[in-house]
Amino acid sequence: MTHHDPECIFCQIITGKLPGKIEYHDEQVTAFHDINPIAPVHVLIVPNAHIPSVNAVEPEHEAVLGHMFTVARELAEKLGLAERGYRLIVNTGEHAGQVIFHLHMHLLGGRSLGPMLARRS
Ligand code: AMP
Ligand code: ZN
Repeated sequence: MTHHDPECIFCQIITGKLPGKIEYHDEQVTAFHDINPIAPVHVLIVPNAHIPSVNAVEPEHEAVLGHMFTVARELAEKLGLAERGYRLIVNTGEHAGQVIFHLHMHLLGGRSLGPMLARRS
């Protein structure tokens, strides 16, 4: 049985209790479009199990975390990003601005994404 947190927005999308524009779903992983996209393609790839952040990752999660990269590659191809490139981001905790505490990988592309991180001026 996959562990869900009934309070968690992403768990609710995974279980169909909240609407989401689902792009991919299997027994381990779900991918859906970000509600507030910052690039022409902005998809969130999440484990179906409620893992709050990278800070909570354990060796038992390695299979699903690896699978997230395979799904990222497949979606990048499907959504037309593979040739020109894309960025995968996993924000963790306060300094990274993590807002939703259900681990997620942002798949971003469809335009030049600029430098990896804005430099302090
Ligand atoms: P992060 O800052 O890495 O925690 O990113 C959380 C992301 O979740 C943001 O890009 C939000 O726009 C996105 N988000 C929040 N609520 C929803 C939702 N209901 N459906 C889809 N994406 C969402
Ligand atoms: Zn969750």
